[in-house]
Amino acid sequence: MKKKEFKTESKKILNMMINSIYTNEEIFLRELISNASDALDKLYYQSLTDKNLDVKKEDLKIKVSFDKDKRTITIRDNGIGMTKEELENNLGTIARSGSELFKLENEKKEDIDIIGQFGVGFYSSFMVSDKVTVLSRSISDDKAYLWESEGADGYLISDATMDSNGTEITLYLKEDNDNHKYSEYLDSYNLERIIKKYSDYITYPIVMDKEVDKKIEETTINSMVPLWKKKKTDVKDEDYFNFYKDRYYDYENPLHIIKSSVEGMVSYDALLFIPSHASMDYYTKEYEKGLELYSKGVLITNKCADLLPDYFSFVKGIVDSEDIDLNISRETMQLNHQVKTIARSIETKIKKELLELLNEKREDYEKFFKEFGNQIKYGIYSSYGMNKEMLQDLLLFHSSHDDKLVTLKEYKERLSEDAKKIYYASGESIAKIKNMPQVENMLDKGIEVLFLTDYLDEFTIKSMHKFEELEFCNVLDENENQEEDDELKKTNEENKDLLTLMKDTLNINDVKFSDKLKNHPVSLVTTGEISLEMEKVLKAMPNSENVSANKVLLINKEHPVYNKIMSLYNSKEETELKDYTKVLYNMALLINGLTVENPNELTEMICNIISK
Ligand code: ADP
Repeated sequence: MKKKEFKTESKKILNMMINSIYTNEEIFLRELISNASDALDKLYYQSLTDKNLDVKKEDLKIKVSFDKDKRTITIRDNGIGMTKEELENNLGTIARSGSELFKLENEKKEDIDIIGQFGVGFYSSFMVSDKVTVLSRSISDDKAYLWESEGADGYLISDATMDSNGTEITLYLKEDNDNHKYSEYLDSYNLERIIKKYSDYITYPIVMDKEVDKKIEETTINSMVPLWKKKKTDVKDEDYFNFYKDRYYDYENPLHIIKSSVEGMVSYDALLFIPSHASMDYYTKEYEKGLELYSKGVLITNKCADLLPDYFSFVKGIVDSEDIDLNISRETMQLNHQVKTIARSIETKIKKELLELLNEKREDYEKFFKEFGNQIKYGIYSSYGMNKEMLQDLLLFHSSHDDKLVTLKEYKERLSEDAKKIYYASGESIAKIKNMPQVENMLDKGIEVLFLTDYLDEFTIKSMHKFEELEFCNVLDENENQEEDDELKKTNEENKDLLTLMKDTLNINDVKFSDKLKNHPVSLVTTGEISLEMEKVLKAMPNSENVSANKVLLINKEHPVYNKIMSLYNSKEETELKDYTKVLYNMALLINGLTVENPNELTEMICNIISK
């Protein structure tokens, strides 16, 4: 028989395992038991819909045994088993956990660290063994097969026999050496300790043969109470962390743990996690939201999307409810009354916990918002403000007040009673925003301004219309920049022809003289719904070239450029006036933190003016 080769990625991981000097290698047992438990879940779940299968939950179990002389440890389950093809596909290629691990390895993280922090799956058995065999018979096959491998150089699959369905994995432990006593695992006390430490919550019995009253009896080692059924006070943070990292393939601890037990119309236990960072695929189409759904400790589906709204799609975890029918089909889940009730309750709980985090652990919340804030904003924006009530208190924006992140509520609390507006300015960076003349004016007057630097910010605010009774107001909105002074009004009236000529040259909405620009010669403001920043974002999207902001160029009446324009106009130097106008417009773009549309044309005009 010819040995088959592992896929390249698998080979790499395997080599890492074989050569690992990882001190926490005992997790190999946790990995194999977890696979066995999954296999039991799968079988039980299938039996619920397949009338030909007669499976009793109480018969399902995992057995761990060892042989001191042969130096082997065996883990056996009577679960779903694997066909020949499945053995080939599942064990010849690295599975999901492995591929995540692989990505990290490429980022050159410490190998040792990775092994500890990830669930590394079946291959972790090679940390302690120089040979592994997998004997398996699938529930849908009457033949059994034996998979065997001595490491990275390949594996063999041959025909075998087995009385019933299930999988038996045998590890041939490595020889002891000066640094390492693998034979320590050939000991019931030690194996028991490891099982209790990592696999106590597995919902099936993990049994070992033990001597009781001089007779060998099968004894259950684990308590079988799943972690999510235990009281928070009875569980160490460390246990939650390990559970999370192992299950959701994260290498960092979660930022926040949510534990909830609800008794009522629909009762359930939930153990939820807010990750400390967005996974690599989080903001891609590939990401699938969802929670694991259990009924009475039996897994129904490992991704029930209907339990989470899109704006909380980052939440991971488990819901276990005895009120959900075990036979619920995945297709009708969405319409299921109980599922809907739980989803609503979970949504409220998540929000409450996030608000608590915001109020009590601000630093953690800001970290959360940095990672997942866009999802919250998108939740408001994409629903045209419909989710506003649910989400608005979770928003953070950078504020001129102490240059910190603030909530809208905090902004409001600082306002005087008669104030009616929340002022904001949007731009590429905080530095650029701070340079805008209008922002300078506001800050001079002691008005707090929100600095919106994220492309979603302004769209979010627009779709909210108001926060409570306060209106959102862009400092670059023309209404905020209207002349209040009668004399200025008169100047604008009297120079209508000049201003129209300039406006037509630029093909924008209006050109006006202003007295609000402090030392700046010019500035751009807008009228209507679309601001300059929004125009920038919209233009960057496909098929939206036609959207543009209604622009108004303001020229500082107190600045020497005013006199220059007047004199050009009065001496009828129209060509020059037009060039000046264009230069001023481009200057305004720069002052507003935007980019110049045609740098070549601009530099040419400036050269012309300089060389005159
Ligand atoms: P993971 O558990 O992360 O998917 P593993 O490398 O541990 O990765 O296992 C790969 C696959 O092999 C599993 O997804 C499962 O389909 C199959 N498998 C492993 N152990 C068993 C088992 N005891 N019974 C049935 N299938 C198993």
